[in-house]
Amino acid sequence: MIKTKRELEDRLTLKADEEAWFDHPSSLPLLISDALERLIDPADPHDPIRRQLVPDVRECDRTDSLDPLGEVSHQATGRLIHRYGRRAALLTTDRCFAYCRHCFRRRFTGTDSGPISDIQIEEAASYLKEHGEITELLLTGGDLFTLSDQKLDHLLTCLKEAREDLILRLCTRSVVSMPSRFTSSLMEIIKRHNHGAPFLLLTQFNHPRELTEESIEAVGKFISLGIPAFNQSVLLAGVNDDVDVLEELCNSLLMNRIKPYYLFQCDLVQGTAHLRVPIEKGLEIEAELRKRLSGLAMPQYTIDLPEAGGKVILTHDYLVGKDSEGYIFESPDGGTRRYPLK
Ligand SMILES: *Cc1c(COP(=O)(O)O)cnc(C)c1O
Ligand code: SF4
Repeated sequence: MIKTKRELEDRLTLKADEEAWFDHPSSLPLLISDALERLIDPADPHDPIRRQLVPDVRECDRTDSLDPLGEVSHQATGRLIHRYGRRAALLTTDRCFAYCRHCFRRRFTGTDSGPISDIQIEEAASYLKEHGEITELLLTGGDLFTLSDQKLDHLLTCLKEAREDLILRLCTRSVVSMPSRFTSSLMEIIKRHNHGAPFLLLTQFNHPRELTEESIEAVGKFISLGIPAFNQSVLLAGVNDDVDVLEELCNSLLMNRIKPYYLFQCDLVQGTAHLRVPIEKGLEIEAELRKRLSGLAMPQYTIDLPEAGGKVILTHDYLVGKDSEGYIFESPDGGTRRYPLK
């Protein structure tokens, strides 16, 4: 585990922008788990895993907001964010086993807010009881699986008691950052609560190298309980803003029974500008990926609009026009086709 400058310098030679962060640190702490540390090639200053984990002085840029998605104003209870009618998100803890420098929730992540309290669990449970229109709950943070077995058991007990009909999304990067967390006792707890509406596993793999034997095995434990797995990647400059890299990532995910769900455009969160990919480039990547990948391997390139605008899908527009004879489409091979109006 790497937490200090010295531990980091023992592993790799810091670049100037990385070194400078320690004199002007951002609020998000340095923390790299052993599993992720092993994936970094110390000889490569542009290593894609390193870029996600080693802090950079450019994080100090204060141009952007800390809460562009308006999560604070949509807080329904102490830890519950209700921004979309039918789904809500519960911030179960601010902790993660490793902190991603692109974290969009850095106003909260790693701030010492700590695990959700029993009172906050009760508040969330009673809100969910009163709001039957909510059909899906995202258990997120931070990372849900940094909670102790005991806390997790209690949380799931309360949620299942309140709403057995509520789909629970288990949102985690721990399968990558701490695959050893998924012990038989933890999986027993998940199994015991696996009744009523389903659990869904939502992972975050951003680079094909993160699909290790251990992380695949951790996801497999959920799949063998009948819990389907979906992946949300973030499009990151110098990490995966490359068609070949994403093609390999998406195919490997599907091959390991994980459906690529979203490819997120970076949110306009303070301190992440240097990791953002321009939308124009993102759209080019999306169009090329769509040609190369099967429909099931293809994630939805998506932007969560600033000022709490909501999620919108970004895609090349194949419907290019309309005349008296019909709609005009661009076909994937570059030609055009017509489809009648009625
Ligand atoms: C993204 C998000 C969701 C889930 O959106 P889906 O499009 O259904 O995956 C729910 N709540 C919050 C606050 C979110 O940011
Ligand atoms: S795992 Fe998620 S919450 Fe934790 S630092 Fe990474 S992006 Fe943020």
